[in-house]
Amino acid sequence: MSRSATLFAAAQSHIPGGVNSPVRAFKGVGGDPVFFKSAKGAYLTDEDDRRYIDYVGSWGPMILGHSHPAIVRAVQQAAEQGLSFGAPTAIEVEMAYKVCENFEGMDLVRMVNSGTEATMTAIRLARGYTGRDKIVKFEGCYHGHADSLLVKAGSGALTLGVPNSPGVPESLAQHTLTLEYNNIDQVRELFSQMGEQIACIIVEPVAGNMNCIPPEKGFLEGLRDVCDGSGALLILDEVMTGFRVGLQGAQGLYGIIPDLTTLGKVIGGGMPVGAFGGKKDIMDHIAPVGPVYQAGTLSGNPVAMAAGLAMLEGVSAAGFYEALSKKANALMAGFQSAADDAGIPFTTNQVGGMFGFFFSDENNISRFEQVTRCDLERFQKFYHLMLEQGVYLAPSAYEAGFVSSAHGDQELDQTISAVRTVMKRL
Ligand code: PMP
Repeated sequence: MSRSATLFAAAQSHIPGGVNSPVRAFKGVGGDPVFFKSAKGAYLTDEDDRRYIDYVGSWGPMILGHSHPAIVRAVQQAAEQGLSFGAPTAIEVEMAYKVCENFEGMDLVRMVNSGTEATMTAIRLARGYTGRDKIVKFEGCYHGHADSLLVKAGSGALTLGVPNSPGVPESLAQHTLTLEYNNIDQVRELFSQMGEQIACIIVEPVAGNMNCIPPEKGFLEGLRDVCDGSGALLILDEVMTGFRVGLQGAQGLYGIIPDLTTLGKVIGGGMPVGAFGGKKDIMDHIAPVGPVYQAGTLSGNPVAMAAGLAMLEGVSAAGFYEALSKKANALMAGFQSAADDAGIPFTTNQVGGMFGFFFSDENNISRFEQVTRCDLERFQKFYHLMLEQGVYLAPSAYEAGFVSSAHGDQELDQTISAVRTVMKRL
């Protein structure tokens, strides 16, 4: 028995499902999860000493590759100064300046410990600011596991087939209105009926929790427009896309200025960090200035801030995102050509360092419903064959993939050659 299998059996005795986050359990692909013990650059090493080229990157944060020396050094130095003070520190101020400087319209930012906390608080703030209860989200988007947001949710909720979680009171869920991603007509229709009751629209500006779906032209602009017309706030959930698709996130890429932005993943450099920020008059409603309550014992933790700042320095290098985007583009072109040569119906999406691939005969996947029509069985077979070839992809057909700056030509070529081998066996 492999060490991963032994550990998974042991894990199940004391951890629900043997994992601390559901998608890790391989429910989306079948079989047992791989347990990892170390990672460096583009590679993961499992408990049985097998190496994999990694396209999960801890679900997005490891954009400079694993164990980047500058980040590890920053963490070590910060740790020597103290692990947590629960009081203000200089490094939090530095982080706030660095984040605000990259996002137009972000005057103030607050650090939290996860993407879930960031979106949960952004929703509370939108409700507190507008005095309205209803929120709009899109089917297949995932914004963390706060109660209001676990309605037709993506990511693990979708993979496990529980997009509407038990435990969320119906009286709360009824305030969450879920529409179709990339369908601006539906949004306009809803707002024409009840726009004045809606506190906010929350959206992934590039959806990465139902595979990878870029916004259609006019979709985000339309959302900005209906929010302006109704007084609802536009929340761009950039937990995944922030510092991933560009230095100014998806909002910079598409030229949309939201009222609130949520961040996570990359800004923590691999440590548990989230953030939400926006215009001063809105953010001033948060405690201690305003009445909307939010707090955190470990928020702005100095070790996490040090990791995040080192990360942000790395991604701020000239040409960083152009190079990253080129890699993801080349990777997807390689996947596509391998599928075409093997006669497998297949298509891909890519935005910056984020990518998605679909076993589908439709060639432009832009809607949730199209994702659900993809050939899941073929994906699962592909997944396990790729794993055998030493390539670690997200273990679900509903997740985006990520490249890092540590993925060089050699890793990309090796991956594409593995895809060529595998496509022929599907
Ligand atoms: N929003 C988005 C867009 C996400 O992708 C995620 C996590 N994948 C979250 C929020 C929640 O973040 P966390 O897992 O850190 O709570």
